Amino acid sequence: MKLSFCSLSSGSSGNCYYIGNEFYGILIDAGISASLIRKFLKDIGISMQTIMGVMVTHNHTDHIRGLEVLSRKNSLPVFTTGTIWESILTPQKKISRDCIREIPLQEKFHLAGFDIEAFRVNHDAPETIGFHICAGDKKITIATDLGHICATSGPYIKAANLLVIESNYDEEMLLNGRYPYYLKKRIQSDHGHLGNKQTSVFLADIFNDELSHICLAHLSKNNNTPEKALQTLTQTFSEKGINLKSHQYISILKRNIPSEMINLDYLEKVI
Ligand SMILES: [Zn+2]
Ligand SMILES: [Zn+2]
Repeated sequence: MKLSFCSLSSGSSGNCYYIGNEFYGILIDAGISASLIRKFLKDIGISMQTIMGVMVTHNHTDHIRGLEVLSRKNSLPVFTTGTIWESILTPQKKISRDCIREIPLQEKFHLAGFDIEAFRVNHDAPETIGFHICAGDKKITIATDLGHICATSGPYIKAANLLVIESNYDEEMLLNGRYPYYLKKRIQSDHGHLGNKQTSVFLADIFNDELSHICLAHLSKNNNTPEKALQTLTQTFSEKGINLKSHQYISILKRNIPSEMINLDYLEKVI
């Protein structure tokens, strides 16, 4: 059986990720336009009819830009916590009652052949969550907006076979860039975003044989480059004496270009 992952778009201007099995798929966030989401799904050979729902991490525009139109036009259920629903639903942003699904924190629910668990992360929205998605013995963790890896999010991130984790900014580019001082401080804070070095040091600490795919996500357009994110990670790994084995890969997720489809083979749990 296959558990598949594809990033449709990743970065500070729009996030949307696809996770699928042989029959169904789900989306994590809808931060690009609904028409672009449909186009990208078509481009990667996925029928919109197989999408069973959208999981939403928080109310920032780069995660919900296409949500209203996508859920309305495709009658798609949308899953997030009560607090995040309160922050999303405004007079400007209306989601049909029929599409609203409220989910608990740190409690598994089952959808489309996946066991899904939401966990809270540190970020400057009313509430922000990551998702831990399991199929058989394989696990994907998505944590795209977080200023700090805390005691709650850490175990979900450490347990992943495929990890989508933020590597938002290059520390030097941010410091020397043209952002105002308060914004630099916000980004660097425990409720902002993870920088390349922070993410790399954390990944070096938790690196293990079960972690087969590291996907660096949510790169800043102004304060990072894919080359710098990759270089920081490979340099940190080499300083710590970490060598990737033949089944282990690093990808840098791009903005507005779907990634390759990553397929993990999983074994059904025998009960
Ligand atoms: Zn974001
Ligand atoms: Zn955010």
